Amino acid sequence: MGRYTGKKADPFYLSANWKRLRKMALERDHYLCQRCRRRVAVVVHHIVPVKECPEKMRDLSNLESVCAMCHNLLHPEKGRAVAVRDDLPGDVRIIDLNARRKEKGT
Ligand SMILES: [Zn+2]
Ligand SMILES: [Zn+2]
Repeated sequence: MGRYTGKKADPFYLSANWKRLRKMALERDHYLCQRCRRRVAVVVHHIVPVKECPEKMRDLSNLESVCAMCHNLLHPEKGRAVAVRDDLPGDVRIIDLNARRKEKGT
């Protein structure tokens, strides 16, 4: 019963570096989806795909906070199967809103 049914998570997405970048992007975008500007952003999306331009992987200007629905639209190649779950690799991560609230106090 492995947590990952598909390919393994890229170690980059597990790094503290990515977590920091991801948080910076979300805070810059005020945790608001930059596509619909209505829903809470839960995913930090690479505007230029990492596959096409690996050097932009750590570029904050290449990162965009989006909600799950908009992110699905951004990745038609993944179909409707793109679930927002925190155990999925890559930029598909859910924000723990409770954790965020706790963080605010510190
Ligand atoms: Zn959206
Ligand atoms: Zn994406």
